Amino acid sequence: MIWNVLTEHWWLPILIACISGHFTTVCVSLYLHRDQTHGGLTIKAPVSHLMRFWLWLSTGLNTREWVACHRKHHAFTDQPDDPHSPVNHGVLGVLFAGVYYYRKATKNMAVMEKYGKGVVNDWLEKYIFTKLQFVGVLTLLAIDIVLFNVGYGLLVWAIQMVWIPFWAAGVINGIGHYLGYRNYKVEDESRNIVPIGILLGGEELHNNHHKYPASSKFSSKWFEFDIGWMYIRILMFFRLAHVKISDMSK
Ligand SMILES: [Zn+2]
Ligand SMILES: [Zn+2]
Repeated sequence: MIWNVLTEHWWLPILIACISGHFTTVCVSLYLHRDQTHGGLTIKAPVSHLMRFWLWLSTGLNTREWVACHRKHHAFTDQPDDPHSPVNHGVLGVLFAGVYYYRKATKNMAVMEKYGKGVVNDWLEKYIFTKLQFVGVLTLLAIDIVLFNVGYGLLVWAIQMVWIPFWAAGVINGIGHYLGYRNYKVEDESRNIVPIGILLGGEELHNNHHKYPASSKFSSKWFEFDIGWMYIRILMFFRLAHVKISDMSK
């Protein structure tokens, strides 16, 4: 049985959960953020389909909701209308309750209407990813139990389910506007958390991103490394991505 191989060491299911979490982060950063929200990048099929399918399985995130919430964050960064800002909600509030603020923003139809324009809205988006929004995460639970057995399967699934709520809605939106260094003087509190952006897919370089939101490349100094940009370069090599803006002055 595959159970026996994947659960031979206690750390193996956890490692696999973390690798899958990293892939989720990359899908959020490259597809939802750099492609759909800011338009500096186009990820081509079949990679875009793979990313959308994995996001449906591992997060249940809706493209239009994510894009609208994030565009509003850019429009009102660290001002009273920012959907998630440590200035308004406290750093611990955003770190541990980021999903609550996200849900609150996405329930607002006026916000969806104003900021959710121009995102993908094909048959898959309408009838699978939106209509069956939560079927994806339940499908992943079933897959995890088949692969790892019930105990480890539930553990792997739990790690996968808290991954984006904690690392993206919590750490990037909270710590990224609270702790770190700044390359650029901007009108908000955005910070580069660390110069080596591996764990959060390059999103650690949040001050750079707020200064030049349309750029698909988040690193700007020689000592900074944006792993998301490295993946984009690999996709470009295979003609699976088209970069429209990578200039940090745009
Ligand atoms: Zn931000
Ligand atoms: Zn952004």
